Amino acid sequence: SPNVLYDALLGSPRDPAKALIRRPDGGEISYGEMIALTGRLANALVALSVEPGDRVAVQVEKSPEALALYLATVRAGAVFLPLNTAYTATEIGYFVGDAAPSLIVCDPRSEKVLHEIDRDAAAALRTLDADGAGSLMDLAAGQPDDFANVPRAAEDLAAILYTSGTTGRSKGAMLSHANLLDNARTLVEAWRFTSDDVLLHALPIYHTHGLFVACNTVMVSGGSMIFLPKFDADAIISHLPDATSMMGVPTFYTRLLPREDFTKPLVAHMRLFTSGSAPLLAETHVEFEERTGHRILERYGMTETNMNTSNPYDGERRAGTVGFPLPGVSLRIAHPETGEELAAGKIGMIEVKGPNVFSGYWRMPEKTASEFRPDGFFITGDLGQIDEDGYVHIVGRQKDLIISGGFNIYPKEIELVLDELDGVAESAVIGVPHPDFGEGVVAVIVPKKGAKLSEDGVKAAIGDRLARFKQPKRVFFADALPRNTMGKVQKNVLRDEHGAEFK
Ligand code: ATP
Ligand code: MG
Repeated sequence: SPNVLYDALLGSPRDPAKALIRRPDGGEISYGEMIALTGRLANALVALSVEPGDRVAVQVEKSPEALALYLATVRAGAVFLPLNTAYTATEIGYFVGDAAPSLIVCDPRSEKVLHEIDRDAAAALRTLDADGAGSLMDLAAGQPDDFANVPRAAEDLAAILYTSGTTGRSKGAMLSHANLLDNARTLVEAWRFTSDDVLLHALPIYHTHGLFVACNTVMVSGGSMIFLPKFDADAIISHLPDATSMMGVPTFYTRLLPREDFTKPLVAHMRLFTSGSAPLLAETHVEFEERTGHRILERYGMTETNMNTSNPYDGERRAGTVGFPLPGVSLRIAHPETGEELAAGKIGMIEVKGPNVFSGYWRMPEKTASEFRPDGFFITGDLGQIDEDGYVHIVGRQKDLIISGGFNIYPKEIELVLDELDGVAESAVIGVPHPDFGEGVVAVIVPKKGAKLSEDGVKAAIGDRLARFKQPKRVFFADALPRNTMGKVQKNVLRDEHGAEFK
């Protein structure tokens, strides 16, 4: 009987001997071997009393076995719940309490701490290390390859993914079999993935980008992936010759560009580079094209919705935009308060609806209700506009909007002006409490190597380029902006740091 997601990912591989995963050391895991591995793991889950609908919480290093555990969980009809490897014991305590899993799989190093968190042993606890060994795999090793998949329908949950927590406490997004499968099929089509593709995979797999966008797309297309444990510029450069495509966050590209051995001949054979999870600077887009001849394809998505928009595969990939709504996705720009659709070109709330959109936040019915419009559109929290050619531009998050002296100020507009100044590598603009204005504008600038910049110099340089109320009242310099592993700038960290500036 059918298991909607698994059947499409691995149910009937065209060629079981073909490599699904290529390890950096040259080893391979074929589609057939992966199916057998997921069968043993699914049997192990059942042996651990994981029942259909149960959550399987997983905080482990990236490995092919960790990917197999996702697939095994889906086969067993359970709900995969991956957790960022950077989370501390306290944070994991929150997630475990919130998700109430029946099984926790962790790195052997955190087993002791998790035993304490799970003191009443509400959940079974097993380990899986970076090399794919541990007590879960010991149990799986003795299990049969064959497993009768638990039937799962389109609307059944396949995963709960916690959002990145960039704007506040992470929320668990409930994703159904259909949410994930529909988006994977859309991306295969939009980005022309085939069984000839070899994706260079260097993203973490606890996040939607590396897990669903990358792995589901490859499995639906029947292609292969080179599975690197993490991003490392040396490793990327040595494996690019064997790849056809790479999915990255913007920092992948900003870290590759300074390398002299990242050359046009190295990537001449490549078919596609994509970017997402955080804004790609137009400058990076241009520099990348100058260096390689490739235009990075930028797309926009979120944990709750999978992918919403993409620049075109054929046609102009416009720097600084996230392209067009994907087929099947309805996207509108609405008034943030009323939800009324705004006239073309206006900045407003990005709202989306489609088979890609999640059903709600885990155990947060009120939050869920407040993030959907009555007609079913999801309020993304991102502000944007649609240009005359239909390209979607993200202006920033509503939570980062600055209101100073009663005026709305979009940080992105100021950042774009700052980034154009000589000697500025990048910038982040934030609002912090101000006694007269409500919020005061503060800029944090990362100078280019060797550049000599001063606060007064920057203020003078933008004096005639921005209305006075938008001009930063203070300018600070930093060696780097605080970022999480997905390359997202953590503006809350900057707001904390500079929060007392005008007090
Ligand atoms: P939280 O919701 O917990 O605050 P988060 O929104 O960062 O965290 P994710 O779901 O990982 O968690 O990220 C989705 C967000 O990432 C989007 O809402 C958007 O703000 C941003 N994003 C994704 N792709 C792009 C892109 N191409 N350009 C700009 N921003 C992007
Ligand atoms: Mg979010």
